[in-house]
Amino acid sequence: MIQIKKNIIISGPCSVESNEQVIETAKKLADTGKVDYLRGGIWKPRTRPGSFEGMGSIALPWLLEAKRESGLPTAVEVATAAQVEEALKYDVDLLWIGARTTVNPFSVQEVADALRGVNKKIFIKNPINPDLELWIGALERIEKAGVEEIGLIHRGFSSYGNTQYRNAPMWHIAIEMRRRYPELTLICDPSHIAGSRHLLYSVAQRALDLNYDGLMIESHRNPDEALSDAKQQVSPEDFELLIDKLVWRIEKIDSGEFATALEKFREQINHIDDELFQLLAQRMRIADQIGQYKKMNGVTILQASRWNEIYDKALKKCQDLNLSDNFIQKYLEAIHLESIRHQNEVMNKPE
Ligand code: PEP
Ligand code: MN
Repeated sequence: MIQIKKNIIISGPCSVESNEQVIETAKKLADTGKVDYLRGGIWKPRTRPGSFEGMGSIALPWLLEAKRESGLPTAVEVATAAQVEEALKYDVDLLWIGARTTVNPFSVQEVADALRGVNKKIFIKNPINPDLELWIGALERIEKAGVEEIGLIHRGFSSYGNTQYRNAPMWHIAIEMRRRYPELTLICDPSHIAGSRHLLYSVAQRALDLNYDGLMIESHRNPDEALSDAKQQVSPEDFELLIDKLVWRIEKIDSGEFATALEKFREQINHIDDELFQLLAQRMRIADQIGQYKKMNGVTILQASRWNEIYDKALKKCQDLNLSDNFIQKYLEAIHLESIRHQNEVMNKPE
């Protein structure tokens, strides 16, 4: 596997709409000096029919012209073997598999077969649903086709109902991919996570703070007029401001002083974790005793009123302690399940 450049920035329109649109956007992006690849959607897999589905192959010569005029290499999403072939005819430098394709092993395999012997960078977006195995499966199919330069794009996950984001980031899934494949380039697509301009910066900065290797950000010469994803696209000027505002931190520094200070904090954390485990074990020992007592008196494990009482009290208390409701909810659920497991063991132990 070949490591793709660090700090890679991909930007350009969600969709290539016209010759002028992509060339003007590309030139302005190139002028910022902050872009490594020009993206441009040619075939757009839209959730609902009737939305703009991309210009299709006629837009490929426009993208090629934009590449020549701006000097920026190009990046395109592909979902079928025919699209791979078309994109290669127009000298596209980087291909990516979109979230709606990663979910489908037949499609991924078709693309993988078309990529055999092709020496291009291939990025794989996470599937739209939070299924790590599907993402890994797509990666394995592309790897087996002999592709050497593979990267991952985290673009968030669909969810039902209103959230702040268009696609919930679920950072832990991308972090787990990173843990399993530390050698792969991992970039974030804050545009499709955020779904609106004003959230781009915080999502992008979060990705950089998690040590991602780069970003893919949608930009358009006139974002409000864009035929797809207008709300999340930014002008090349705003793109530049955004990139300038971002802080790229480094994973490690070779400084004894820094290492010693960090070590001290980490020791404190380890110590507190040990204490938390002791306390949790103590809590579970009490749950065992409660289990014995309930068994003697023929009472059920679950008593909803008691559980609601614990829950409400904890949420109130933790608000003052700057612990988020979401965290406390998950924590209490985990504790409750473990407590039930303990009581169940005690109550149903054969005599
Ligand atoms: C895109 O990048 O334009 C796109 C369609 O994204 P996703 O596959 O993440 O939905
Ligand atoms: Mn888009």
